[in-house]
Amino acid sequence: MPIFRKPAFNIGGNAKKLQIPAGTFQACPSCSAVLHQIELEQNQRVCPHCEHHFLIGSRDRLGHLLDPGSFQEADADMEAVDVLNFRAAKSYKDSLAEYQKKTGLKDSAIGGLGRIEGKEVSVAVLDFAFLGGTLGSVAGEKITRCIEAATERGIPVIVISAAGGARLHEGMFALMQMAKTSGALAYHSAARLPFISVLTNPTTGGVIASFASLGDIIVAEPKAMIGFAGPRVIKETTHQDLPPGFQTAEFLEAHGLVDMIVHRKKMRATLSNLLGYLHQEKRAA
Ligand SMILES: [Zn+2]
Repeated sequence: MPIFRKPAFNIGGNAKKLQIPAGTFQACPSCSAVLHQIELEQNQRVCPHCEHHFLIGSRDRLGHLLDPGSFQEADADMEAVDVLNFRAAKSYKDSLAEYQKKTGLKDSAIGGLGRIEGKEVSVAVLDFAFLGGTLGSVAGEKITRCIEAATERGIPVIVISAAGGARLHEGMFALMQMAKTSGALAYHSAARLPFISVLTNPTTGGVIASFASLGDIIVAEPKAMIGFAGPRVIKETTHQDLPPGFQTAEFLEAHGLVDMIVHRKKMRATLSNLLGYLHQEKRAA
C-alpha cells in the first residue's frame, strides 16, 4: 500500500468535455492552418492563408461558375450497371450504393446546359468524391451527351475534370469511354466550336489521356496534380529521377501542355472571357 495517495488528475474541475462535431474543422495540408468548414465553404474551399485549393464537390463548383438558376441538368438519373459482376474487397454494386449515399450523386459526373455571364454553354463536371471521380460508362456517356448537345446547339462545351482515371470496376467498358468522348469532341471541333478543358487536382489516367487533354484551351487550377501514371510508376519504369515539380499544373504550363493557370475565384470571369473570345453567339434576328 502506498504511503502517499496520489490525487486524482483533474484539469477542469467538473467542466463538461467540449463536444465538437467531427468534420467541423479541417487542417490545411499545405500550411497546417486549422480552418472551420464554414470559413472554407465561404472561400470556395480555398485556404485563406496559403491559397491551397481543396477538393470541391461538383454541384458547389457549378454553383460558383454558372449564373444562378441557369443549370439544367441532363440525364440526372443515369446509373451504372455492374455488367462484369466485379468483386474485389467489396462488390461494385455495394461500392456504388455506398458512394451514392455518401455524396448524394448517382455517379461521378454531372452535366447539362447553363450560362456563364449570360453565355450559353454545355458543361460537365467530374466529382472526385465519387469513387475518385473515375471515368466509367455513366460518366463517359454523360460527358459525350454534353458534347453532342453542344454540337447540336452550336455552343461551346466545358468539361471540368477531377479524376483518378478510368474505373477499373468496368474494365473495357470504362476504357472505351476515352475513345467515345474523344470522338464526340472531334465532331464538335469539326463544327468549329470551342472546347475548354479545366483540369483540377487531381486529373490523371484515362481522363487526361483522352478528353481532358483535347481542349482548345486547357485551364488548370494552381498546383493541381496532372499526369497519366503516378511518379513512382514512372520512376520504376524509366529508372530516372524526376525533375522537381513534375506533374504539377505549373510544370505543365512551363512545358506547353497547359495554357493557363487560374485561381478558383477567378475561374468564372476567366471562362466568361474565353467564351467571349472564342465564340460568337448566334442571336435571333
Ligand atoms: Zn493553407
